[in-house]
Amino acid sequence: MTTHASTAPVIVWFRQDLRINDNPALNTAAESGAPVIPLFVWSPEEDGDWEPGGASRWWLHHSLSRLAADLDKLGSPLVVKRGYSLSILRDFAKETGAHAVYWNRRYEPSTIVRDKNIKGALVKDGIDARSFNGNLLFEPWQVLNGKNEPYKVFTAYHKSATNLVSPPAPAEAPKKLKAPAKKIQSVSISDLMLLPKINWAGGLKETWKPGELGARENLEEFLSGIVEDYKTERDRPSVVGTSRLSPHLHFGEISPRTVWHAVRETQKSSKGSESKSTYLKELVWREFAHHLLYHFPLTTSAPLRHEFEHFPWADDKEALKAWQKGKTGYPLVDAGMRELWHTGWMHNRVRMVVASFLVKDLLLPWQWGAEWFWDTLVDADLANNTLGWQWSAGCGADAAPYFRVFNPLLQSKKFDPDGKYIKLWVPELANLPKPWFHNPWEAPAEVLKESGITLGKTYPKPIVDHGFARERALHAFKSLKAVAAK
Ligand SMILES: Cc1cc2nc3c(=O)[nH]c(=O)nc-3n(C[C@H](O)[C@H](O)[C@H](O)COP(=O)(O)OP(=O)(O)OC[C@H]3O[C@@H](n4cnc5c(N)ncnc54)[C@H](O)[C@@H]3O)c2cc1C
Repeated sequence: MTTHASTAPVIVWFRQDLRINDNPALNTAAESGAPVIPLFVWSPEEDGDWEPGGASRWWLHHSLSRLAADLDKLGSPLVVKRGYSLSILRDFAKETGAHAVYWNRRYEPSTIVRDKNIKGALVKDGIDARSFNGNLLFEPWQVLNGKNEPYKVFTAYHKSATNLVSPPAPAEAPKKLKAPAKKIQSVSISDLMLLPKINWAGGLKETWKPGELGARENLEEFLSGIVEDYKTERDRPSVVGTSRLSPHLHFGEISPRTVWHAVRETQKSSKGSESKSTYLKELVWREFAHHLLYHFPLTTSAPLRHEFEHFPWADDKEALKAWQKGKTGYPLVDAGMRELWHTGWMHNRVRMVVASFLVKDLLLPWQWGAEWFWDTLVDADLANNTLGWQWSAGCGADAAPYFRVFNPLLQSKKFDPDGKYIKLWVPELANLPKPWFHNPWEAPAEVLKESGITLGKTYPKPIVDHGFARERALHAFKSLKAVAAK
């Protein structure tokens, strides 16, 4: 094998690592001196219940186009195929005479099973099949407690992970890739039909620049000042106070190591040091989410805390629809849901508010919310989404306690005091003066009239009374405690 290794190509199987910088699979292949064939296989059915949603597909189309352009420049074009990964990889290795297949690991439960299978089959075929860590700071199995068990509490996980080893510094992109001798057949990215047939993606296009360059630009903008006030500004949905790197990190257009080290580098200046530490901690939440998904793979649809299997969820599809469309009558909730629909993203503070509203005010199953987010978020990520929803419902690791029911009105007054965010996404409330844009249902009739609002017509009345809903939720959650105690 060694004698032909420099002429027999290496296949680099791209998945959620759509970048050329700090890409261990790509670098290892390039350093071998062999021709490199970059390959992407579109096989959504292999993601089981979690095939990429509409917003993710839109992103993937553009991200692949960007990656293809970057690989062209390096000298070896991206080959795109569609079908069953195992047979494509085996056939393709045979067809091209490849001696190796390299990839960076993914951690979704169905992907782990598939990839193990593929590795076994390729090794049997005499192929050097190798996987690398390109997407996490710490492998999920690396961080365990004193009893060799996974962590369920973030602070303990964080302490243990950050005491472990400093994540290695990111590697640069290869300068050049040796192309295979023969031209290889590929389908075009458009043939994958990732873009929507009805063009609903205008807002996504206005908001995002998918691809490695877009990721780098976001990081640079964040480091050029926003990061210094991250600790306070990250909770204000009306300002750009966070990095907005989540879709880029999900698709692997930038590695967490790159972000980690870039922030650490700026910590050398004294400005905003606390904010930078807070930001690094958020990156570790992403690690914690992957740790949990790896060790508790059923939690994508089942609660981590088993007593929640008996929770008396409601079955109100009309309420679900009102929530999805941003027509609940609670301006902050509606603003968040409309931001999501328009841009494919929602501010973290508002994600917590809308999630709490769904599971605690409407008493609807958290899985319904997770599914809607899955289809509409450009950063839909099985680990982060599962953690976010289980946390909000109170049934996951380190979850919000059952008695913590976000009050949408107080959240609105605290985090969007001047109503900028609400008025941007719920323009029918634009003329309402302070404080009524937080709670239009309590506004005097003449104020509503002057602002051109007819509740129930131009803007909905609240679909549920928060005070009543809170009591109802507390009652339901208390009944669970009794089940758990039995
Ligand atoms: C109900 C709910 C569902 C969520 N679903 C997703 C999801 O599908 N995909 C996703 O990436 N995030 C999800 N999050 C976490 C969080 O809201 C987003 O990561 C964040 O809003 C992204 O914006 P940002 O990149 O500007 O974050 P920043 O504040 O700049 O944080 C930097 C990075 O740290 C990571 N991060 C930050 N907060 C969290 C967190 N709470 N959990 C895990 N990682 C975090 C993200 O990768 C993020 O890009 C969810 C949160 C909730 C409450």
